[in-house]
Amino acid sequence: MGFFEKIGREVEQFKQTAQESAEENASYRCRTCESRFNIYDEECPDCGANNVVPMNTEE
Ligand SMILES: [Zn+2]
Repeated sequence: MGFFEKIGREVEQFKQTAQESAEENASYRCRTCESRFNIYDEECPDCGANNVVPMNTEE
């Protein structure tokens, strides 16, 4: 494996890990598309639905 290939792979791994931990820490989710967010913005940034609820609120 070439040097730059190795670096590229590590960067990719880091991005994935960062994304996963962001999702773990998410406090809100969209009930329409199941996307998760750290901030409450009324509308889902992913699908635009006005259906974002706090994670710790069960149905
Ligand atoms: Zn959504």
